[in-house]
Amino acid sequence: MAIRKGNFPLKKSKPKKSRKSVKGLEKDLKNILYPVIKRRDVDEPCISCEKYPNEGTDTQAGHFTAFELCNQLMRWYSKNINKQCSGCNGFKHGNGTEYRKGMLYKYGVEEVDYIETYYKTPLPISFNYRDWLVTTIEKLKGQTDEFILNYMEFETRSMLSSLSNS
Ligand SMILES: [Zn+2]
Repeated sequence: MAIRKGNFPLKKSKPKKSRKSVKGLEKDLKNILYPVIKRRDVDEPCISCEKYPNEGTDTQAGHFTAFELCNQLMRWYSKNINKQCSGCNGFKHGNGTEYRKGMLYKYGVEEVDYIETYYKTPLPISFNYRDWLVTTIEKLKGQTDEFILNYMEFETRSMLSSLSNS
């Protein structure tokens, strides 16, 4: 028997529900995924200018199709995010034309086609982005880089195809 001091009733502990905003959750997912992308691409140059940025200081995870333009799943598709130098990702706003060439070289035309075809596909109203973020973050916590990269490629892909077919 547990000894209780005083005479107060034990508070029932409810399972903690995340009250974070979508923005906060997106930040959490970035903090999980982006370092993994940088490690994946550690030996590669910036995808758009082919320079080797200083690891850790000048290295960013940049989108092929801009984050704000993507639907809520394609934002997180791991092949849509690659190492860039801050010059290309920032000042040159992604350096799109050169980024595309880098994508074709790295992944091939089918992959580029896939992203360009689906990145703007609207998701059905039934898709709950906030819940998806919560579940995804939970699934990725403490996992290996390989797991995270695969998950963010294949789960996103299958989710996207099931939603756009429904
Ligand atoms: Zn660059």
